[in-house]
Amino acid sequence: MIDVLIVGGGGAGLRAAIAVAECDPTLEVAVVSKVYPMRSHTVSAEGGAAGVIGVDDTLDEHCYDTISGGDWLCDQDAVEMFIAEAPKELIQLEHWGCPWSREPDGRVAVRPFGGMKKERTWYAADKTGFHLLHTLFQTTLKYGEIKRYDEWYVTRLIVDDGRVYGAVAVDIRTGRIETIPARSVILATGGCGKIFPFTTNAAIKTGDGMALAYRAGAPLKDMEFVQYHPTGLPFTGILITEAARAEGGWLINKDGYRYLQDYDLGTPTPTPKLRSMELGPRDRLSQAFVHEQHRGRTVETPYGPVVYLDLRHLGEARIDARIPFVRELCRSYQNLDPATDLIPVRPVVHYMMGGIHTDLDGATPIAGLYAAGETACVSINGANRLGSNSLPEILVFGRRAGVAAAEFARSHRQAEAPAVQAQGRDEERRLTHLRGDGKKGERIADLREEMQHTLEGAAGIYRTGDVLAKAVDSLAELRQRASEARLDDSSTAFNTELLNWLELGCMLDIAETVVACALNRTESRGAHQRTDFEQRDDAGFLAHSLVHRAPDGSPSVGLLPVTITRWPPGERVYGR
Ligand SMILES: Cc1cc2nc3c(=O)[nH]c(=O)nc-3n(C[C@H](O)[C@H](O)[C@H](O)COP(=O)(O)OP(=O)(O)OC[C@H]3O[C@@H](n4cnc5c(N)ncnc54)[C@H](O)[C@@H]3O)c2cc1C
Repeated sequence: MIDVLIVGGGGAGLRAAIAVAECDPTLEVAVVSKVYPMRSHTVSAEGGAAGVIGVDDTLDEHCYDTISGGDWLCDQDAVEMFIAEAPKELIQLEHWGCPWSREPDGRVAVRPFGGMKKERTWYAADKTGFHLLHTLFQTTLKYGEIKRYDEWYVTRLIVDDGRVYGAVAVDIRTGRIETIPARSVILATGGCGKIFPFTTNAAIKTGDGMALAYRAGAPLKDMEFVQYHPTGLPFTGILITEAARAEGGWLINKDGYRYLQDYDLGTPTPTPKLRSMELGPRDRLSQAFVHEQHRGRTVETPYGPVVYLDLRHLGEARIDARIPFVRELCRSYQNLDPATDLIPVRPVVHYMMGGIHTDLDGATPIAGLYAAGETACVSINGANRLGSNSLPEILVFGRRAGVAAAEFARSHRQAEAPAVQAQGRDEERRLTHLRGDGKKGERIADLREEMQHTLEGAAGIYRTGDVLAKAVDSLAELRQRASEARLDDSSTAFNTELLNWLELGCMLDIAETVVACALNRTESRGAHQRTDFEQRDDAGFLAHSLVHRAPDGSPSVGLLPVTITRWPPGERVYGR
């Protein structure tokens, strides 16, 4: 039997695997991933990872930036712990071989980032995620005991009487369905940007882990908080990293005007390197874009309204040295050169602040089940994540979940539970039945597109109660239609249609929780802006949304108080 089964081979999953192996080399660890681990979304992170290192910086300042940036919805005990551990993780990564960019005198280089009032974002040019994931992956290879299930798709958790006993997975290459008994399970399955039509997220980010936990009885937290990044390429949604603005890029409207000066961004203190307004927090920048659009100051394109990101004044040498990937992406996907041309950009769905409810060790309310990384909500991101806090988050909480799951496995050395084989057989029957039976039904792609546009319309940058309420009905109807959809493909090898159907089921579950939580929160906070409730309401909503799956399958939303330690709720001002 596997001691610790990790679902997800991205940054959080691999960091957890190393932690288990280091804790106790006798434990059996397995990592299941629906893609080869190096293809996980972590690989595409560009800008960097925050961790206090400068002599002029303090842990408290990083805490304050994170808490105010999150509009006081972060649990402050989690933030304090996270920020104290983040630099240790980044140094650990250096020891494992991560090539952090350097200052000429050899010190680790840091860059400013949105909503951070000190320079504390470590980076490896603008391919930070690539180097970080590579470093973790090669480190896992040192541990022979880490078993890998590459290109296996987990379809169900085995849970009985409030405890997890393993998972069921399909080998995508052969179609073989296997029950994997385990003493503890860590979900590290990443985010769910694909519930929206326009996103920076990879196609694999379909919220599977959140749905697996939710169906098994674990609650999800703060699902209404969806981050839009202000600068995506208009057609593809490819991210132009915040590092471009950190290096001095400007956002200008159709008149060539730096429009952010007209908005209250809670702007950070302008130091010579912190170039103030373009480095406001992401929620405020994305909201400012919508206002520019209403004022008629954006530019219409076939792919929606845009503003421009202007990097021309940085010069070719600086662009090539500090943000070479931005130039590469613009050339390949937008057919322009940022050294001489303006880059059209518009807000794009980027990150889920919400996720599986966990404690500081990644434990969910189901015994033996842990979650870490973007799929989890501890919570350190509150109502709006600050850029570059997520990479250290997957390291800090990946490690903590790994240690806790290892401990759980060591203290629960029982034989296999009877539920394991019975539930495994059930799942095998369900999956076999799902494969194509030749009958025609609605196409999965059509249902998916309808779901994505429903979400964009109801739970985008600005929301209202009426439209959200309609979306509840539309999603319920979509769920019914999806359950009647038929697959054409009856093959066992690489049946991607079956995978798409399973992913659609996960996304519909998650979409319903996003809309239900957004409808319930009758206030505006961070990334959740209700035009019918424009103010933040601390008396009613200084609380997390906690959503359970009701017996009829619909979401049931409650509230959980936020943990405040040293920073009472205040105005979001970054320049203190
Ligand atoms: C373009 C882009 C740039 C970013 N840049 C930055 C940045 O500069 N700094 C920063 O801090 N953050 C950044 N972020 C956010 C950050 O990269 C992610 O939040 C983080 O990497 C998520 O890591 P993870 O390990 O939680 O998940 P992922 O890296 O997404 O990995 C998820 C894993 O789960 C597996 N999986 C999922 N479902 C299943 C299933 N059903 N069965 C089996 N396996 C499954 C996948 O195969 C994958 O291995 C960026 C995000 C994007 C999209």
